[in-house]
Amino acid sequence: MTESDAATAAVGEEPVPPVVTGRPEEIADGVFVVPDGRVPLVPNIGVVVGDRAALVVDTAMGPRNGEVVHGIARELAGDRPLYLTVTHFHPEHGYGAQAFRDATIVYNREQHEELRDKGQLYVDMFRTFGPEVAEQLEGVELVQPNVVYDGAADLDLGGKQVRLRTWGLAHTRGDQIVFLPAERVLFTGDLVENRFFSIFPHFPPDDADVNGSKWIAVLEQLERLEPAIVVPGHGEVGGAGLIAAAREYLELLRSETKRLAGEGADADAIIATLEPQLKERYPDWGASEWIAFGVRCFLAE
Ligand SMILES: [Zn+2]
Repeated sequence: MTESDAATAAVGEEPVPPVVTGRPEEIADGVFVVPDGRVPLVPNIGVVVGDRAALVVDTAMGPRNGEVVHGIARELAGDRPLYLTVTHFHPEHGYGAQAFRDATIVYNREQHEELRDKGQLYVDMFRTFGPEVAEQLEGVELVQPNVVYDGAADLDLGGKQVRLRTWGLAHTRGDQIVFLPAERVLFTGDLVENRFFSIFPHFPPDDADVNGSKWIAVLEQLERLEPAIVVPGHGEVGGAGLIAAAREYLELLRSETKRLAGEGADADAIIATLEPQLKERYPDWGASEWIAFGVRCFLAE
């Protein structure tokens, strides 16, 4: 990957400031989403408000976005104690955590270790994505969690049960989902997007902690949860069909990559064949730059 490839892949053609401007929408009783508005490098943000405490899911990127999200959380939660978790260590999902000085921050072990190992690398990489991105990273601090769990953790917010789960390596080493079994609401982070090609952060030698086949297996686990409402990492809130669409795309990308490789095609030739086909198959999906990264990732498995 060159830096300009990454910038194009992550930011797109038009420089739009990665700033949270959405207002919270209640998608289930006490469950709010601040929509990303399909702005590059802004995630969907969740706030779950129980009787006794509230949980924030993802912060957006940088201290100023973090303050905005913290302010929204306080509006919704009043003086309830706040928990903060993030879906994974990527900057646009978690690098506003420093605004949550009054919150208990909960990460799984892989997330915590991945932030420790690659957090600064990603700050440095994202700073090359253009002045709009670099501006949001000014003054960023990488914040350590207060609580680290292995595999599974449950939170009782008071009338709101929340399950935090990870199945390890997929889009990152420690992708975490947030599931509310009573409301059947699932926050997926970047395991699932709505009308964006799956993001493969396959940047060897700096970062190759992404695995498409394990990702497919995780999506099968998510389908078994039978969520009614799926909040993707990026793009509009939807239903369980978003998970199936992501899985089917990854399965197709894997099978076509392997078929063409079996016929002797190299990575560049496979990408040249598949990119136009997939863009035609998914005409309203954005961020097609990630198709190439996905091909290279499946070839590396
Ligand atoms: Zn991500």
